[in-house]
Amino acid sequence: MGTIQLSGIGRTFKSTAAVRDIYLTIEDGEFVVLLGPSGCGKTTLLRMIAGLLEPTTGRILLDGVDITELPSKKRDLAMVFQSYALYPHLSVRKNLAFPLKVQHLGKDEIERRVQDVADSLEIGHLLDRKPKELSGGQRQRVAVGRALVRNPKAFLMDEPLSNLDAKLRTQTRHELTALHRRLGATFVYVTHDQVEAMTMATKIVVLNAGAIEQFGSPEEVYDCPESVFVAGFLGSPAMNLLEAQVIGREGIVSLSGTGLAGDLWPGDTDDLDVVVGIRPEHLEIAALSDEHDGILLDGTVEIVENLGGEQILTFSTGRSRIHMRTSRDVRVSVGEQLTLRAAAEHVHLFDRASGRRLE
Ligand code: ATP
Repeated sequence: MGTIQLSGIGRTFKSTAAVRDIYLTIEDGEFVVLLGPSGCGKTTLLRMIAGLLEPTTGRILLDGVDITELPSKKRDLAMVFQSYALYPHLSVRKNLAFPLKVQHLGKDEIERRVQDVADSLEIGHLLDRKPKELSGGQRQRVAVGRALVRNPKAFLMDEPLSNLDAKLRTQTRHELTALHRRLGATFVYVTHDQVEAMTMATKIVVLNAGAIEQFGSPEEVYDCPESVFVAGFLGSPAMNLLEAQVIGREGIVSLSGTGLAGDLWPGDTDDLDVVVGIRPEHLEIAALSDEHDGILLDGTVEIVENLGGEQILTFSTGRSRIHMRTSRDVRVSVGEQLTLRAAAEHVHLFDRASGRRLE
């Protein structure tokens, strides 16, 4: 079991609140990714769970037991660091055995567990090497192995792939996902890489300025962002975000200058300043004869980027630039003026004042 509960966790450094009043339950067996921009508090939160940093406020529970005051090495949690933090003077075998020696396990038991883990990570042939004699990818495996031998209740990982090149990162991502499936253990994983978050997580925590913006499955967070911040953070290119106004009684969304117009609001409400969000893959070029149930936008093609299998088109529309992701069969040229549309079901509306999603 490895259920982690955070109850009102916060951490202040001098006058900076790095993490603020976090309530979160990470269920046993989840792969939870803490995602957010640099400085949003991901590492601080992970280090508090690990017991490497004391919270200023709140409690941490592991399987219902309060571990807030428990020192790191007694927490039954294993941490994998970005820098791997291997002992440079010890062989791979001794690095892997180290956490077990600390637990005073017998020699045979230690040998068996080290061998099992080395075999499962395919590093058996490296056991007598020192860390400096390994590649980056091999060091990363040893660091994961050192967490694995302890058979902990949960694995805590701080950007463990960031020192690997792109190809190795993809491969290791697949291996970590497979490892999580095989072990069924709880993983808490820090990254600012949305691809890692979308592909590995069972749940994503999006953090902004030390607080949770949204907690949900990758699909929920991508398909139904709760705030402008989440909408703009996930996706590449990011969601198009356009300031607009709902004319309440008529149910029309409009913003002069962009040609943005559409019938999206139930009507008969007060006028409201909104942000309209449309993902680049949900825009299409409208034929004039089309009936539409969503939103229309006039734009001029500024950039055509060929990505091989698809293309990204950049349009200027009044005061904004918007991106559209489309197949390469769609032929357009720079300077062309076109009308784009998005179906109502793909248009997200946010309250401009609070930044929160409007239903
Ligand atoms: P990154 O992705 O860049 O690693 P992060 O989301 O992990 O960022 P943290 O390292 O948790 O962010 O830092 C959160 C905030 O707390 C930042 O503003 C940082 O400057 C501040 N901070 C972190 N550690 C300390 C410290 N020891 N002393 C003072 N301020 C700190």
